[in-house]
Amino acid sequence: MEKNTFVTLDQINEIVKTYPTPFHLYDEKGIRENARSVKEAFSWNKGFREYFAVKAEPNPFIMKILKEYGCGADCSSEAELLLSEAAGLTGSDIMFSSNDTPAEEFALAKKMGAIINLDDFTHIDYFEKNVGAFPETMSCRYNPGGVYELGNGIMDNPGDAKYGMTKDQIIEAYKILQSKGVKHFGIHAFLVSNTVTNDYYPALSKTLFELCVEIKEKTGISLEFINLSGGVGIAYRPDQTANDIAVIGKGVEKVYNEVLVPAGLGNIAIFTEMGRFMTGPYGCLVTKAIHEKHTYKEYIGVDACASNLMRPAIYKAYHHITVAGKENAPCDHKYDIVGSLCENSDKFAIDRMLPKIDIGDYLIIHDTGAHGFSMGYNYNGRLRSAELLLCEDGSVKMIRRAETLADYFATYDCFDDYKKLGK
Ligand SMILES: *Cc1c(COP(=O)(O)O)cnc(C)c1O
Repeated sequence: MEKNTFVTLDQINEIVKTYPTPFHLYDEKGIRENARSVKEAFSWNKGFREYFAVKAEPNPFIMKILKEYGCGADCSSEAELLLSEAAGLTGSDIMFSSNDTPAEEFALAKKMGAIINLDDFTHIDYFEKNVGAFPETMSCRYNPGGVYELGNGIMDNPGDAKYGMTKDQIIEAYKILQSKGVKHFGIHAFLVSNTVTNDYYPALSKTLFELCVEIKEKTGISLEFINLSGGVGIAYRPDQTANDIAVIGKGVEKVYNEVLVPAGLGNIAIFTEMGRFMTGPYGCLVTKAIHEKHTYKEYIGVDACASNLMRPAIYKAYHHITVAGKENAPCDHKYDIVGSLCENSDKFAIDRMLPKIDIGDYLIIHDTGAHGFSMGYNYNGRLRSAELLLCEDGSVKMIRRAETLADYFATYDCFDDYKKLGK
């Protein structure tokens, strides 16, 4: 499949008059259309709610757009909780799905009235000792262990994952929590990441729905929500077929009707915590070619680096690249597209066939709308770029400014000659 961009060279030429490259650009129209489809796909379930995984794109402008479609926020840190509150999300709008959680963060989540999703059995004791009484609603995170395999060969290894409780632990956890006054219960599991298949949520649903029936039998507790969490992937590569959320929603509905309804559990709400699927395809990193280098390979050096987008460097992740204005030119040149970090993994693409790139060309790196900007870091003193929103009316709004050296130097204020840092 062809991978199209949502921005043209003409638009980029206009944007760079105000905002220099590199920058992340987000497509408001795409985000809205997708959020609407997600809502529709699960409209068969009365209590359905998507809690957008804030870590994917922690920006209150984006969170507010998603809120219009009923989305809450999935948080796992103090900063994410505070950002959600600032975006107008609080109380049960927030799912706190953290792990290795500090007591203060549990306390903040409790104070805000967020739904707390316990990652571990020992957190019951920890919470009671360090935070106090439990809220009336609690969720627990499940890890079935072993290898989790889908029909088409996609799989992951929950048995090696640090998250969640075993089956025995989770059943015991519900009993203990009930004895401590908790009245409403939910369950959560995240077993495979970036699944490019419509089968993952339905398969996960079957696992969780059957467990719900077992929990009901063994404890008498009727869970009130089932949180399918994240993991719905996107087609980073042109040869992949994108997930169809309508098909996924129908797949979950079928399992719901087969497993939960006959067991008298037909009122359970379905929750999701998608991040990647909600914003991934609707962001791109725009960067300028500033060097070409001819040694043992052909290199194009751009003005972005792994500080702006870490996925290729740490996961060898594929991100499609379009040379703006050369969309229809033949891809007859082989390049490594590199950033400036003193780190050989700082390559956005290796041996990629692209049109001939000239200095000054703009490269559009696709699918940076989730786990893109947010994974940024400051190695080599590199600064994070601005985030811009391409609004539905075609205008461009800055939704987060670029970092400055003053931001970077701010934490050196314990250094005697801090002022010499100037900025
Ligand atoms: C990362 C994460 C998500 C979002 O995952 P995606 O793959 O972006 O959909 C949801 N829930 C939890 C607990 C996570 O850690």
